[in-house]
Amino acid sequence: MEQTLNVAIFAIPGMGHLIPLGEFAKRLVLTHNFSVTFIVPTPGPLSAGPKSFLDSLPTRINYGLLPPVDLDDLSSDVRAETAIALTVSRSLPSLRDVLKSLVSSSRIVALVVDLFATDAFDVAAEFGISPYIFFASTAMTLSLFLYLPKLHESVSCEYRDLAEPVQIPGCTPVHGKDLLDPVQDRKNDAYKRLLHIAKQYSLAEGIIVNSFRALEGGAIKALQEEESGKPPVYPIGPLVQMGGADDGSECLRWLDDQPRGSVLFVAFGSLGTLSFDQLTELAFGLEMSEQRFLWVVRSPNDKVEVFGVNDQNDPLNFLPNGFLDRTKGFGLVVPSWAPQAQILSHSSTGGFLTHCGWNSTLESVVNGVPLIAWPLYAEQNMNAVILTEDLKVAVRPKVRENGIIGRNEIAKVVKGLTEGEEGNAIRSRMKGLKDAAGMVLSEDGDSTKSLTELAQKWKSKILN
Ligand code: UDP
Repeated sequence: MEQTLNVAIFAIPGMGHLIPLGEFAKRLVLTHNFSVTFIVPTPGPLSAGPKSFLDSLPTRINYGLLPPVDLDDLSSDVRAETAIALTVSRSLPSLRDVLKSLVSSSRIVALVVDLFATDAFDVAAEFGISPYIFFASTAMTLSLFLYLPKLHESVSCEYRDLAEPVQIPGCTPVHGKDLLDPVQDRKNDAYKRLLHIAKQYSLAEGIIVNSFRALEGGAIKALQEEESGKPPVYPIGPLVQMGGADDGSECLRWLDDQPRGSVLFVAFGSLGTLSFDQLTELAFGLEMSEQRFLWVVRSPNDKVEVFGVNDQNDPLNFLPNGFLDRTKGFGLVVPSWAPQAQILSHSSTGGFLTHCGWNSTLESVVNGVPLIAWPLYAEQNMNAVILTEDLKVAVRPKVRENGIIGRNEIAKVVKGLTEGEEGNAIRSRMKGLKDAAGMVLSEDGDSTKSLTELAQKWKSKILN
């Protein structure tokens, strides 16, 4: 009997990484008949989101949690990239154990690792397994990763102090201060780890990127130019979680009752939070705009003494006095988490104020929802450059010198997106991208072909 070929995926347990990897795995299983095993390193028990996500993966996609690693020696101000890199490197002995048993019980054709997890390549090599990277971000950021070792050699100051913008191959020049967070402080351990990871990219047999040409033509062209030390790149995007069935949540009911295309969805990804002052400005800005909104509210990220707040964990307690009453007719707030994919595919949703996380961006693109760009962390400033300067499918509110976006500015951009001429132009360009996304994912589309090419490469490996 023919044995199913297995793809092992070494995935860190962040939602922004797991969601697109899950979609990738589903296609490998449903379209190309592989089985998939997720191997997940973690610094402690899984939180509810990743756990329920992994538990809900369909048959022929299994997952195993590696024993938690100890990060107690890290200082409390350690950057996320350092914590992730150490979670990966300290999990390698248990990854070795798992691969050993997988190799003896199944036919593994590849180890696909998260974009931060290239340290696993050494272990893959011990078993003769082909190493691949799944890059759950932009082609632009991938191009920067591949370019970083060169940039590092040629620039001696902090990138943010460069007078000229940085020319990432194939991309619109970006100011050093807009590059992703971990390269902002070259003395920080997170930068050194990122550089180490970036140098390992040349060892991959291929890199899968969740993007497509109509979104990032220049970057993808540059990535696909052959050059020694540059692995083949497979653009297979946009892979996004689909809206799926109505899960009965209150906000979807509420959306059902709103006019078509009238609601601005406001959400900052799986991790984004605002300061208390910024949260207050956003609340007043939304109220002043008098536009319908659906807002996923989180507790502020700074220590605030708010008189009368006795439950610091309830985000709604941080909203201005009377806000909920005054906006009852046209706004709805949801604490902490909402079914974003379903909201963005709902016909009442007409705009999205987003932190520009790449999955959020792609979910908007496939639904043709125009954007207000409000980048917060990671590579989101670079994503905002793509959205506002290259594609012109987002408006970006101006930030004051104190780092805050004021209520008047917020009300102005919200009104502009829903009512103004610029809003119409943005909407029509976004509609063009939605159509392009549909094309690349169709049977003959570029992304479908790219994935098929990869699947055939893996299958032929076993046959030869
Ligand atoms: N998400 C969601 N509900 C929320 C917040 C986020 O379903 O309230 C999902 C969102 O649809 C996306 C992912 O979490 O698929 C966030 O990924 P993204 O790359 O946008 O941002 P990150 O969280 O990695 O910063």
